[in-house]
Amino acid sequence: MSLRLFNTLTKTKDEFAPLDPANVRMYVCGPTVYDFAHIGNARPVIVFDVLFRLLRHVYGAGHVTYVRNITDVDDKINARAAERGISIRELTEETARIYEEDVAGLGNLPPSVAPRATEHIPQMLRIIDRLVDAGHAYAADGHVLFDVSSKADYGKLSRRSLDEMIAGSRVEVAPYKKNPMDFVLWKPSEDALPGWDSPWGRGRPGWHIECSAMAGEYLGECFDIHGGGIDLQFPHHENEIAQSEGANHGHPLAKVWMHNGFLQVEGEKMSKSLGNFYTIRDLLADWPGEVLRFNMLRTHYRQPIDFTLAGLRESWKTLERWYEVTEPLADSSPDGEFFAALRDDLNTPAAIASLHQADEMALAGGLGFLGFSNVQLKIAAKTQVDTVAIAAAIEARMAAKATKNFAESDRIRDELLAKGVVLKDGPQGTTWELKK
Ligand code: AMP
Ligand code: ZN
Repeated sequence: MSLRLFNTLTKTKDEFAPLDPANVRMYVCGPTVYDFAHIGNARPVIVFDVLFRLLRHVYGAGHVTYVRNITDVDDKINARAAERGISIRELTEETARIYEEDVAGLGNLPPSVAPRATEHIPQMLRIIDRLVDAGHAYAADGHVLFDVSSKADYGKLSRRSLDEMIAGSRVEVAPYKKNPMDFVLWKPSEDALPGWDSPWGRGRPGWHIECSAMAGEYLGECFDIHGGGIDLQFPHHENEIAQSEGANHGHPLAKVWMHNGFLQVEGEKMSKSLGNFYTIRDLLADWPGEVLRFNMLRTHYRQPIDFTLAGLRESWKTLERWYEVTEPLADSSPDGEFFAALRDDLNTPAAIASLHQADEMALAGGLGFLGFSNVQLKIAAKTQVDTVAIAAAIEARMAAKATKNFAESDRIRDELLAKGVVLKDGPQGTTWELKK
């Protein structure tokens, strides 16, 4: 069954062929845990959750390993913990827990493994050691730096030359660097900050090396898919490639590199100062997670999203209309339009457009595509109830009421309620709806 994915590395949409169909392996860069995640952070989580579910559907649920890390050592974390007067550990544990709740609230499956950076320091040190041995890294002034000039194809993911990189980015100039683009693998840590002993003194890792170490630990030297937001393509993913290939005799890190586009709010970059900053937590207080998820998937993952409250309301209305579907369910066909659209580089807008039939919707629910909550249950319930029988029961209840047999009329109401059917008495008579 064909699955095509756009590969940032080749810039083409290619047929996906796993290295090992019995264990399809995917790594996605996770959050740095110092603050509430915002709705932009939710995008890669939802996009790669759809892919995770699709891969499980195609290769079997037991044949896919999905790793999404937690970055729990970082300068922003150190600064925030100091600001709040709590320990780093307290901050990272609290933020990671909130993150997991938030993304579960958006209907995402937990990844197979959610490794924490601080639990993989020996693996990072091993890679750094190999890079130094191979001549790809050097120690200077308590730091260990990756020597970008040592790798001829450095820049192949973002397709930039070293000169372009230097011109286009805010490089941190430091006297101990041979080349301004050389990046930190390890840096010294003061006593008050987290640190681990190493051959280069007490220190802490750079950000990029964390992902190389955790990906290698759980997925091996080479795996199938590496994902993240487009902002991570350079320098983060470029550097992951350089480190992992440099330490593994040039073997490619991942076959397919996938990047989701950015999310803006009402046409502007989300920022606290503009007052358009939405955390997942705040949104979940006002909107069903399913609506937030569905809204996100109405745009193809590689396109930018303009997130608006009007768009959210629209998405909610659409979902509600779909819940009104009453036709009986047919068998979901994996060859249906919905599934074919997903297999074409996760074309979720086309998949959504195909959702005009109840059977396609059942499949959508199964993939967690529309959501998680109880889309399937709601549709199944609505289609399993016998509308003729409900009408007859309502009539019988009215007759019971007319003879003041309230025990009987209550019994009928409760019997329907037990089947998930809620009766509503109004001026126009009695109507019914499914229990929410
Ligand atoms: P961070 O914690 O900043 O490293 O981000 C975690 C993930 O969210 C990364 O994959 C980022 O690329 C992604 N991300 C951050 N901001 C946005 C945004 N506005 N739109 C889409 N993805 C984003
Ligand atoms: Zn990463």
